[in-house]
Amino acid sequence: MGLRDRGVEIKTPEQLDVMRRAGLVVGETLERLRAAVAPGVTTGELDAIAEESIRSAGATPSFLGYHGFPGSICASVNDEVVHGIPGDRVIAAGDVVSIDCGAIVDGWHGDAALTVAVGEVSPALTRLLQVTEDALWHGIAAARIGGRVTDISHAVEKHVRSQGDYGILEDYTGHGIGTAMHQPPNVPNYGRPGRGPKLVPGIALAVEPMVTLGTHETTTLDDDWTVVTDDGSWAAHFEHSFALTPDGAWVLTALDGGEARLAALGVPFGGR
Ligand code: MG
Ligand code: MG
Repeated sequence: MGLRDRGVEIKTPEQLDVMRRAGLVVGETLERLRAAVAPGVTTGELDAIAEESIRSAGATPSFLGYHGFPGSICASVNDEVVHGIPGDRVIAAGDVVSIDCGAIVDGWHGDAALTVAVGEVSPALTRLLQVTEDALWHGIAAARIGGRVTDISHAVEKHVRSQGDYGILEDYTGHGIGTAMHQPPNVPNYGRPGRGPKLVPGIALAVEPMVTLGTHETTTLDDDWTVVTDDGSWAAHFEHSFALTPDGAWVLTALDGGEARLAALGVPFGGR
């Protein structure tokens, strides 16, 4: 293991099994939230659904109390990209709502996010959501044993750039995940391939492109959390936590482990 691999937590198969349990709690919670998003619903109501979903599964919401964060989800609407605080904001038709969720099972973390369009949105927004989610999968699909972390970064950026003129956030990145929600290495959403820690069996990473219809420049609001685009352009955020096993990639927060999407991209499935 080289110097640059220092600090990367490598999981045993048994530990990945626990992370899969945490990932499924997150994935199932996000599906409940996706179904609950509707005009008239508040982000605080979504947060309550998330907390109930996580706790009833015997897990702990990892966001709640994280550096003082007051919710079990981040709910970021329209020009809010990430880290929105759930509360009394009422969701309206035409909004896009990004929901980020994390759960802990027996000390092991899962972390995932998705963006939901509320009713009819513009074709440009529909496309933004599709491009961002596809970029996430292209990133995961680029992770091969023997490769490097920025192979993922490069694949995310390449896909987004191939689809049009979008902003890719640079100040926020994906990350290692395991006994902590955020641990080394960072997984940027842009850059050259072939750099960063080596991809080995047992590495677990959260990949999370944050893409806008305009600028990549953002500001944090006075609430010290909510990240908004500087030009008011709307944004999307998709995230999964995945691990590499000797067989391939295992998307711990996807209900099917990522099997279908990985197959469509011609990538071996490493799940159990
Ligand atoms: Mg997240
Ligand atoms: Mg994350």
